[in-house]
Amino acid sequence: MTPLTVQSPPVLVAEVFGPTLQGEGPSCGQQALFVRLSRCNLSCPGCDTPFTWDRSRYDLREHTRRYSAASLVSWVLEHPTPLVVISGGEPLLQQDRIFPVVAALTAAGRRVEIETNGAVTPSPELVAQVAAFNVSPKLAAFASERDADRRINPAALSTLVTSGKAVFKFVASGVADLEEVSDLVTRFELAPVWVMPEGSTSEVIVSRMRELADAVVARGWNLTTRLHVLLWEDARGR
Ligand code: SF4
Repeated sequence: MTPLTVQSPPVLVAEVFGPTLQGEGPSCGQQALFVRLSRCNLSCPGCDTPFTWDRSRYDLREHTRRYSAASLVSWVLEHPTPLVVISGGEPLLQQDRIFPVVAALTAAGRRVEIETNGAVTPSPELVAQVAAFNVSPKLAAFASERDADRRINPAALSTLVTSGKAVFKFVASGVADLEEVSDLVTRFELAPVWVMPEGSTSEVIVSRMRELADAVVARGWNLTTRLHVLLWEDARGR
């Protein structure tokens, strides 16, 4: 395991919170601690965490805390929660900085999942330490024009598929979005696939899940809710 030293560069963190419930994907409903990293390589117009990257609306210095790897590990180990979710932003932009954190937590018996947009290739060292990658490639309808050429990164997706540790979770606002999901799934042999309704209110989430359910089942995919929205609407840090 890489030793945690004071020389390790700080991790740029937007917020840490929990224990709470993982709201999305295969671990939905499980108790989890969240470490939300700052910064992103994309700029999705409907992003629900713009305070991690959008300098035009937020002073990122005010929304960024610098944690040493050791202090992040200490915060996690203060809690008995088995599942730790590293989210963002795009956490893989700081993969060298979080590697010692992931390695230490895995060695301590915690299950570490990383949520990524799938446009950054994880290192072999990180792949070896992580329990799972929850990968959410962005469909064209949810991406900015600026990101048109970089929202899909074939090399990164190939690495994630090959890792055997990735699940692919697509945000969809309706059945029409599933065609593009299907194209990506076929082109990059993505599996397993989860579809998640876009929305930040419980009313919209339930409505879109009802619209998507049959079409998702027909394609052999899985459907996830956004449990935190059903429970707490768009409250931050839940
Ligand atoms: S990839 Fe995720 S965090 Fe980054 S801008 Fe898009 S929605 Fe926001």
